[in-house]
Amino acid sequence: MTGHGSIVLVEQACTSCMVCARECPSWCITLDSHTEPVAGLPAGARVRTQNVLDRFEIDWSLCMYCGICVEECPFDALAWEPQHTAAASSASTLRHGISELGRSG
Ligand code: SF4
Ligand code: SF4
Repeated sequence: MTGHGSIVLVEQACTSCMVCARECPSWCITLDSHTEPVAGLPAGARVRTQNVLDRFEIDWSLCMYCGICVEECPFDALAWEPQHTAAASSASTLRHGISELGRSG
């Protein structure tokens, strides 16, 4: 636990496993995903599927900054960011999606 920064999602690392959403004590993580076939497999290989993340949201009006999601993520896809979440005037503006949470590279 490293204090009350905000949480960033490393989108490429996320497998949509739902562990964070299940472990979050305030149920403030929402994620949607779909499966699609893994591309680039050798000809004749068995078809495999992978989860593709469509939506990942943390409702900051409910988040207790407990850090459980960061600690429980088996793929290190969540991390603390030292910046404070900008003050928001209403609960709806506290709702961040992939575009705000996502970090490329
Ligand atoms: S820090 Fe805690 S309350 Fe906030 S999203 Fe993660 S598990 Fe949920
Ligand atoms: S626990 Fe980690 S890998 Fe699993 S859905 Fe949450 S952020 Fe993605």
